[in-house]
Amino acid sequence: MNVERIFKNNEKWVADKLKIDKNYFSNLSKGQNPDFLYIGCSDSRVTAEELMGVAPGEVFVHRNIANMVQSTDLSAMSVINYAITQLNVKHIVVCGHYNCGGVRAAMQSADLGILNPWLRNIRDVYRLHQKELDAIKNIEKRNNRLVELNVQEQCINIIKTAEVQKAHKEHRITVHGWVFDVHTGKLINLRINFQKILKDIMKIYHIT
Ligand SMILES: [Zn+2]
Repeated sequence: MNVERIFKNNEKWVADKLKIDKNYFSNLSKGQNPDFLYIGCSDSRVTAEELMGVAPGEVFVHRNIANMVQSTDLSAMSVINYAITQLNVKHIVVCGHYNCGGVRAAMQSADLGILNPWLRNIRDVYRLHQKELDAIKNIEKRNNRLVELNVQEQCINIIKTAEVQKAHKEHRITVHGWVFDVHTGKLINLRINFQKILKDIMKIYHIT
């Protein structure tokens, strides 16, 4: 892959779009109205739009290492706030993926510099679910289960925000936890029971 090829690809993409609809870009420039906010991993194999089969304008996307939602991360918090208050998205998805390098790194005992505080948030998820995870002897299976539990915890972090609590109260928003299986290309709905989780934790996190 080189830069020239990317610009060539872009020219072809523009031509292909205009061949189907000559107003494609003038329509696209009118604005965005996505129903979904997708929060996923930066991993180059987990391409948000392509794996969901959606077109430009359909999904608002935020990606970082291991699809984390941290309350002190101004970028993630701004994305969530904007998606709810300005774009009026109806769904927020946290999508993890099996064989996540960020999750694998967090399970190792290594000093990774600036990555340490970021990965510590995944170690905290491990601590919360240590009993279940330590019972899984196969390392790959254990890491993949942590991927799923990490998705669940990041969904809970989303529910802790005031904007989501307000929108949830007005039945305007649904939070989803998904995992992308790199081995098969399949998207898996974890079907997290948020009603039960919310019942258990909202006494602590309720702010609206
Ligand atoms: Zn990843």
